[in-house]
Amino acid sequence: MTDVYSQLMKIAKRRGIIWPSFEIYGSASGFYDYGPNGTEILHNIKNTWRKYYKDIEGFGEITTTTIMGEDVFHGSGHLDGFEDAMTECRECSRSYRADHLIEEHTEVQADSLPNNEIQKHIKKHDVRCPECNGQLGDVYDFNLMFKTQIGPGGSRPGYLRPETAQGMFVNYQYLYKHNKEKLPFGTTQIGRAYRNEISPRQGVIRLREFMQMEAEVFVDPEEKTHPDYSEVKDIEVELHPTEKQLEDQPPIKITLQEAVDQGWIGSEIIAYYIGLSTRFFSEIGIDTEKLRYRQHLPDEMAHYASECWDAEAMSSRFGWIEIAGISDRTNYDLKKHSQTSGAELTAFERYEEPVEKQKTVIEPQMDVLGPQLKDKAQEVANTLIDMDPDKLKNMLDSGPVEMNVNGETVKLDSEHIEIREVEEKITGEKKVPHVIEPSYGLDRIFYITLEHAYDQDIQDGEERTVLRLERDIAPKQAAVLPLLNQEEMEKQAREVYSQLQKTHRVAIDRSGSIGRRYRRQDEIGTPYCITIDHQTLEDQTVTIRDRDTTSQIRVGMEKLGEALDKLISGASLSELKP
Ligand SMILES: [Zn+2]
Repeated sequence: MTDVYSQLMKIAKRRGIIWPSFEIYGSASGFYDYGPNGTEILHNIKNTWRKYYKDIEGFGEITTTTIMGEDVFHGSGHLDGFEDAMTECRECSRSYRADHLIEEHTEVQADSLPNNEIQKHIKKHDVRCPECNGQLGDVYDFNLMFKTQIGPGGSRPGYLRPETAQGMFVNYQYLYKHNKEKLPFGTTQIGRAYRNEISPRQGVIRLREFMQMEAEVFVDPEEKTHPDYSEVKDIEVELHPTEKQLEDQPPIKITLQEAVDQGWIGSEIIAYYIGLSTRFFSEIGIDTEKLRYRQHLPDEMAHYASECWDAEAMSSRFGWIEIAGISDRTNYDLKKHSQTSGAELTAFERYEEPVEKQKTVIEPQMDVLGPQLKDKAQEVANTLIDMDPDKLKNMLDSGPVEMNVNGETVKLDSEHIEIREVEEKITGEKKVPHVIEPSYGLDRIFYITLEHAYDQDIQDGEERTVLRLERDIAPKQAAVLPLLNQEEMEKQAREVYSQLQKTHRVAIDRSGSIGRRYRRQDEIGTPYCITIDHQTLEDQTVTIRDRDTTSQIRVGMEKLGEALDKLISGASLSELKP
């Protein structure tokens, strides 16, 4: 059986899509560079994503630094909890994810076990170094953040961000103001993030430097709904809820509405973003038959989340892989950053009508306190005001209250203190918003898009490989090919090319036989090839060849742009015939 991954990687290197970074120096696992065609595909995926989050959702996109000071990661919790279990070989010193070694050798689910348990399994099953069969050392926590220094000297440590999200949380105050101080609002970021994975061995799937497309939606904790929920509620998805996983039951096929009604999904807003993700994945060409949403089990949930669903896509080599996560991060991040930085990260929610509220207040009676306590009276009054009214009332009910002022004890009773109910007008309240986070792994989405588009068929008795990429995702929408290496045809082709490239993403390809050029374009998923041949020179018509069917039609050159537009927006070749 052909391994799609290795086939794809061959094409990717050959056709300028993706390859290992700094290969002439031997590369390092977890780093990949995107070539010209790969970068075009990335752009197209990003722009499709922006269509959903910028145009439909109306969120503003920001760009924050990839290096941030240590305090940020104290606040975010990454300095404490962002670790994997590591072990080193005592013979050859290679490092491994200890939990992964256990899972490769046994049936044990090890990724959420404590280190001492993992250690026991290593001993019990005599797990050894996969490279040299040496003994493995102790299991300990390894923090996955890349550390660096800000400025010379070691006084200011910094870290490469492990997720783009933190840049949005630390800028909350600016973003709240920018969004007219009103919940809900959302912010997005597309950018790089870094995780110093211990021993990534899954090619382009587990990267140390990767790209994320994230949205942080700041919502009222009591309003986890979405105004456009009804537009997605009938989308059917494959869900694998916690309960089903724990019972060893298969996933369920269900509409989002049913999933919310039956309590599988915790809120309409989470369901909404699962729906939006499904639309996005489908539009870029991910096969939704190979897509499911798996809920995190309680022990694998990140420290910050209350509900989390991973979008998982089926890959022929890697099985189900996570390509996105839809999480309810609650108020965890803002609260933590507020505690750590001292900044107030709240939203003031104004009531429609001011609310009258009963409030108990403590009123020190200065006309009694003053003459009795003289210069100590003010200090006593200040202390009283800060006390809990109900507690103070209870204390007074059971006798005089003793208070120590500068080493002297004073006795106070109801003559000195009045506690009474007052009416208060409240116009609104401060809330720490909750955060709903749809987060997408761009590199993995890129790979899955290629894999789901990968196909082989027989054309003219010859096997060909073709990437059936969506027309808007393929690096080029069309390629212009002069049939022969002949001056008149070349000239004509250049004219067609320079005309089309003003409005479309087109390539011109002049080298090799026409058959080879078709194969080349098929391999990068170019949906249409426009060929300039003998007849073009006579009657100003060209052929358009469809990548998927390889059938061709002739159209007049003056109608080429229009024809291409129709095809790209979904028309078939036969629909173009006059
Ligand atoms: Zn070893």
